[in-house]
Amino acid sequence: MTPVHIRPAVQTLPAYVPGARSTGGNAAKLSSNEMPFPPQDSVLAALTAAAGGANRYPEMTGDTLVEEIARRHAVTAGQVVVGNGSVALIQHVLDTVCDEGDDVVLPWRSFEAYPICIAVAGARAVPVPLTADGRHDVPAMLAAITPRTRVVIACTPNNPTGPALTADELAALVEGVPQSVLVIVDEAYLDFVTDDAVGDALTLLADHANLLVSRTFSKAHALAGMRVGYLVGEEDVICAIRSVSTPFGVNLPAQAAARAALSPQALAETARRVAVVVAERDRVLAGLGEQGWRVPDAQGNFFWLAVGEETTALAEHFRAAGILVRPFAGEGVRVSIGTPAENDRLLAATAAWLTR
Ligand SMILES: *Cc1c(COP(=O)(O)O)cnc(C)c1O
Repeated sequence: MTPVHIRPAVQTLPAYVPGARSTGGNAAKLSSNEMPFPPQDSVLAALTAAAGGANRYPEMTGDTLVEEIARRHAVTAGQVVVGNGSVALIQHVLDTVCDEGDDVVLPWRSFEAYPICIAVAGARAVPVPLTADGRHDVPAMLAAITPRTRVVIACTPNNPTGPALTADELAALVEGVPQSVLVIVDEAYLDFVTDDAVGDALTLLADHANLLVSRTFSKAHALAGMRVGYLVGEEDVICAIRSVSTPFGVNLPAQAAARAALSPQALAETARRVAVVVAERDRVLAGLGEQGWRVPDAQGNFFWLAVGEETTALAEHFRAAGILVRPFAGEGVRVSIGTPAENDRLLAATAAWLTR
């Protein structure tokens, strides 16, 4: 035990469990919701070229990247802040608005980074259970708001269960939250959504100064290793968050890679790859349905097997079949969509599990 004072909130932090990493061989890495494709050639060229200038600091707040993101979403540069992955930005948001002991309402089970960020900020997590089919319970989330609530978080599509909020649910959530309470809508997987009823929080920004939309280059853009995320919101809120953010938080090659990923050609290729993943997702979900699995609506690049007490055994079964997944002990297993061959292996393993 160190004699150094460690904040009690830090001593009791839940661990962030990263998805298992491949230790070589040909294991299918379906544990971290990454794209099964490498970065695009143009993106790789840009980041490699930028690395040659790494003796210099990058732009401190990534202004050129910020301008390009703003143009893409038809907002002002003052409405965008970039960070070292959206997880870092979520921490910056909570550090910006939460005082010690304030409440943060969040759906649960959801992204495991949220409770950690909330505790680090000295705030208190108020988890609101998902519905039986893995969806946000918007009325219950609104009912959980009290005068102590500073932030409400939504995750759409929800990691790890898969469903996304409809436009009506999203509007009801944003309109039901008091104007002094921040709403963070984490849309890390929005690119994979195919259900037309699903909402996009960016469309609500004009009418809601307390709304923050979180996006990332980690998923559809296939840049998880580069660590770039961004928030879009009202200028004063974004300005405050920028003042809290780590200086030079997005490194030089990462800024270059993200900018290259926003070129029209790269965006077109990203859309094509997303379409491949989505087609595979729908094929896998249909296959699971035929096998008799009941799976929540999957609008991201992953799906959820709510096997409860059998979670650890199922994850071990997958591992023995050369498939790495993300188990949540006692709750279920999250599986990412991989290449067609990996998905075939997965379907064989789920079939074998049922007849074991
Ligand atoms: C993967 C993921 C992110 C992305 O986080 P980065 O720090 O940008 O890599 C954000 N939110 C959710 C819900 C995720 O699953």
